[in-house]
Formats: sequence, structure tokens, C-alpha cells
Amino acid sequence: MHKETILAQIGNHRERETGAISFPVYHSTAYRHPGPGRSTGFDYTRTANPTRSVLEEAIAELEGGDAGFACSSGMAAVQTVMGLFSPGDHLIVSLDLYGGTYRLFERVWVRLGISFSYVDLRDLQAVEAAATPQTRGIFIETPTNPLMRVTDLAALCRMARDKGWLSIVDNTFMTPYGQQPLLKGADVVVHSATKYLGGHNDVLAGLIVTATPELSDRVGELVNTLGAVLGPQEAWLLMRGMKTLALRMEKHQENAMAIAQYLSTHPAVDQVYYPAFSPGERQVQEGQAAGYGGMLSFRVQQEEMVSPFLSNLRLVSYAESLGGVESLITHPATQTHADLPEEIRKRTGVCDRLLRMSVGIEHLEDLIGDLSRALNHARVVI
Ligand SMILES: *Cc1c(COP(=O)(O)O)cnc(C)c1O
Repeated sequence: MHKETILAQIGNHRERETGAISFPVYHSTAYRHPGPGRSTGFDYTRTANPTRSVLEEAIAELEGGDAGFACSSGMAAVQTVMGLFSPGDHLIVSLDLYGGTYRLFERVWVRLGISFSYVDLRDLQAVEAAATPQTRGIFIETPTNPLMRVTDLAALCRMARDKGWLSIVDNTFMTPYGQQPLLKGADVVVHSATKYLGGHNDVLAGLIVTATPELSDRVGELVNTLGAVLGPQEAWLLMRGMKTLALRMEKHQENAMAIAQYLSTHPAVDQVYYPAFSPGERQVQEGQAAGYGGMLSFRVQQEEMVSPFLSNLRLVSYAESLGGVESLITHPATQTHADLPEEIRKRTGVCDRLLRMSVGIEHLEDLIGDLSRALNHARVVI
């Protein structure tokens, strides 16, 4: 079936007794056993919950994986997957990535004996050079956050497989509607479902999808043991959001392309980062994804423009998330990426002039009108 159909039909045809179209929220944490040694498939809600299971089956199907797992947040999903590694292991990680993931790796896992190298994953030779005999995994974001660098998933996952590394892809930015990393050879996909999958800035959730039954067993055991699972109410809310993912993504992408084009002609803007704009990146993106996503970043000409620009936005919110129907703008250096040491921020290009926009599904003219007024104001006041 097509992804649009799978998405719109999540939960339907599942509740046989009443015929409910919207799958019910099962709040029950305990489940009666039909007899000794027998189970309905549900025993205790941390292990499995009927509402959560519908969501988990849907994300597994959408990503083309073996099994799905729903966690209490995107960070809980990343944290759970990290349980696959042991002290002494080394991982290679995207050079610019979600700041919270960087913080988890450096503040928690380094203390527990795992080491990380941050590498521009577009450069396979650099990946090769960063490898050590202890390398066990590679953690990929593509396009990256916030500089929209595009990694060739098939090439990198092939390399990881040859070397016996586990490849993990954070697919938050593209969603399975836009990109299916497991079909390009990745072993595990993680999501902050708080973003596009939920889509309405009203549910915190994470998802994991595994490629093989062997990995599903290992991750399933970690999910149940660590216990950072998604509650049934959130699982239901997330499924409701996901039903319209296809429509939303088309509009996000259409608006993002037009805004990226608009910004690149504006005299107050120095540089625009959007996967369609660099020829090499564009080709890789087109080979592995449907569209260029709804995220873009841009540098204003001078650091002094950032503050007047942000304070003069009336429609677009200055806020720290992404993927919802409402457009948001963040200042990565002081918000999402504030935990990156200045040295890494400089090396990756997350400078103080950089702004990141999550383009919503509002009318394009209203968005451009707002950006244009705030940019022109910023140019005048400095
Ligand atoms: C937001 C985000 C996360 C963390 O997810 P939470 O749901 O906020 O815990 C991880 N990766 C990416 C790319 C994100 O944007």
C-alpha cells in the first residue's frame, strides 16, 4: 500500500468488537490472563499496550522495518538504542546534529565509557579516518541539524555493514514519508515524533524501528527493561497527527522551497542552507528522499540583525521546536545547540548569525510578508 493510505488508515479495522474507526485509548496497565501460562498478548503496559502497539506496527510498516517501538520522547528513543553499546565502544556521529543528542552522548555516555567522533559524514574518507578498532556504530542525521548537510545513506550504510558497525539514522527531519533509511541499508531508525510525525506541537514522543528480528529482540528487551515507553494517550494523539502527515509534508516542502528562494535574494541574508541549493547535496537528496524537507537555515549579514529580526516577527514564532503546522524560527547558537562547545560550533558553522526555520503550512504570502518586514526592520535599525 502507498504511504498516504497507510497513514490515513492508522488504527482503522483494528477494533473488531465495536468497529471504532479511531482506535481506542487503552488506559489499563494490567491485563487478565485467559488461564495459567496463557496471555492475550498483553500482560502489563510497560511491556505492551494495545494502543501503543497499533502505533508501533504503523511506524514499522512506514519505515519498511521489522518492528517499531514507541518511547516517551525522541531522547528516550536515542537513549534506549544506545543500550546496544558497551563501555569501550566508539561511535562515529554526524558533525552537526541535534544538540540534545550531543549532550546525551557527551554528558552521559562518555562518563559510561563510550567515545564519539564527530565527522562530516558527506566525506567517506573522513569517516574511514575517524574509525578505530573499537568503532561499533555510526549515528547519522540527514539532512543535518541545523546546516542541512546531506549524507549518502546507501554509501555510508554499506560501509558500516562491511565494517560490522551498527548504523543508526535519526530520521526526524524527513520522516518515513520523505525517506526510508532502512531500505538504504540502515539497521535502526529513531525519531523525535514530537516534530513532523505529531505535527501539531502538542505531543512529546519518540520512535524506534529495527531492520531485523534479531535487532528487534534486542531493542524490545531494552525498551521493556529501561521503561521509557510512550503512554497510551500520547500514542493515540501521535497517531491522530500522523494521519495527515503526507498532506502536511507536501505543504511544508512547497513553502520551504519558496521561502529558501526568497531568502537567498534578500540583501539582509548572507547564505541559505536548503538541501536543494548545493548541486552535490541536491543530487544525493534526490536519490534517497522525496523532496527536500521543510527545514532551512540562513545566516543574516550581521550578528546585530538577529535580535531586531526576531523581535519583529509577528506571525512566525521565535520558538525552539520544529515540524509543526505553525512556522517557528530558532537561533541555534543560543537555543538548540547551546550545549555544543564554541569550538565545535565554529567548526560546524553554527555561528551567531545563523537562524533555523521550521516552515509551517500557512499561506506562503503571509510567511514571506512577515519575514520581509522583520528583515527590513533589522537592516534599518543596525
Ligand atoms: C527534537 C529532536 C530530538 C529529540 O527529541 P525529543 O522528542 O525532543 O526528545 C532528536 N533528534 C532530532 C533531530 C530532533 O529534532
